[in-house]
Amino acid sequence: MNWRDAAACRSEDPELFFPIGEDGLSRQQIEQARAVCHRCPVLTDCGSWALRNGERDGVWGAMTADERRRRLGRLSGSNP
Ligand code: SF4
Repeated sequence: MNWRDAAACRSEDPELFFPIGEDGLSRQQIEQARAVCHRCPVLTDCGSWALRNGERDGVWGAMTADERRRRLGRLSGSNP
């Protein structure tokens, strides 16, 4: 079975996971998406997949694109 088959977001509007930004009104949308992620049984698989594949947009594994970029920067040592 693919981890996506167990994704909690399968029953959600996909738009929820693709805010247009990360500030202002988008913050509320991101927090709603994160709430779904935090009850998702495949959160870790999803987050790892997004990091490994350099997913550039959207909320994956409860992480925004900026959060993934920062995490990857820390892992590579290129970000203080
Ligand atoms: S962690 Fe979030 S984005 Fe990933 S599969 Fe689960 S609900 Fe969907």
